[in-house]
Amino acid sequence: MDATVTRLTAIADKVLAGERLAAEEGLLLHERADLALLGLLADAVRRRLHPEPMVTYIVDRNINPTNVCVTDCSFCAFYRRPLSPEAYVLPRAEIYRKIDELIALGGVLVLMQGGHHPHLRTDWFCTLLADLKERYPRLHLHALSPPEIHHLARLERRPPAEVIARLKEAGLDSIPGGGAEILVDRVRRLISPKKATSDEWLEVSRQAHLQGVKTTATMMFGHVERPEERIEHLLRLRALQDETGGFTAFACWNFQNDAGVRLVAQKTSPAVYLRVLALARLLLDNIPNIQASFVTQGADGAQLSLRFGANDFGGGMMEENVVSAAGTHELLRLEEIERQIEAAGFAPRRRDFYYNIIDARGPLAAQGAGAPP
Ligand code: SF4
Repeated sequence: MDATVTRLTAIADKVLAGERLAAEEGLLLHERADLALLGLLADAVRRRLHPEPMVTYIVDRNINPTNVCVTDCSFCAFYRRPLSPEAYVLPRAEIYRKIDELIALGGVLVLMQGGHHPHLRTDWFCTLLADLKERYPRLHLHALSPPEIHHLARLERRPPAEVIARLKEAGLDSIPGGGAEILVDRVRRLISPKKATSDEWLEVSRQAHLQGVKTTATMMFGHVERPEERIEHLLRLRALQDETGGFTAFACWNFQNDAGVRLVAQKTSPAVYLRVLALARLLLDNIPNIQASFVTQGADGAQLSLRFGANDFGGGMMEENVVSAAGTHELLRLEEIERQIEAAGFAPRRRDFYYNIIDARGPLAAQGAGAPP
């Protein structure tokens, strides 16, 4: 047998035995395994972790309180410089209106991320969070990605832990894992040199976890990163999860290069997206949930993702400005999400941020590892 096949067979055996993979094994899978093998292995891991034939999703809404940003990431079509005529800070009434619409649809979570505004401080966000908590006490406030918190800490010359503590006290429930892109500084220097470094992104997440604030992890790939840097990104997330256990989920998407961004990169094929998703499922053995990205992959891609390691359809979000500003408009309504999950052979169920089932249909009984979905 060819040496590569022998090594891939040994790696497959390790995956099926539930053993942890090393960086070089991840890289070999990335470079040499065929797509079918990656899908089979990722699906086996997904079934071991989530034996019930169910795919979850959450009804949420993305609200971007401001598009003003001084960080100038080359892949971003969403932000505006402070003096741009298109710069905005959403009035409170507009935020209320968006949340009222979300609640009318049965929404349970609002995701608030935005630009790195040069003047909005922690106090401003605390007032906003406290106001929303008072007005909507049952709404989960998932807000301010690690780079946004790092930006506030830098502006105010205080440790990120202090910013997190104040936001938490004001009503922050959890932190979205945006702005990770690739957690390798060579890559960050090329695409987002003014943004939090890899260590700074991880440190904000660590400090949140230490305060009992759960966060998510993300990855945006398909630009200037090398294959080994994708693996390094995943293993840095895995190491922090070993340390804190604070990530609830992982989501990845490829760079959207189709509208007015400065970064130029060859478009990632759907096959490469599925390879990376499957690798994430195989390497992130300590992060329980992996989300499909229907916002960037469309309905067909998201359905396929469910056979490449994903167990969740992410948010039925009503807006996705940071992604859609770059030209992605494939938002699905809630019935459409349900239809897509069913068509892929799973039962759809609504969940909360912590992956508790909050669906009138109730949870499904587990059918044992390996049961066909
Ligand atoms: S990705 Fe975020 S930090 Fe970077 S330019 Fe866009 S809004 Fe600013």
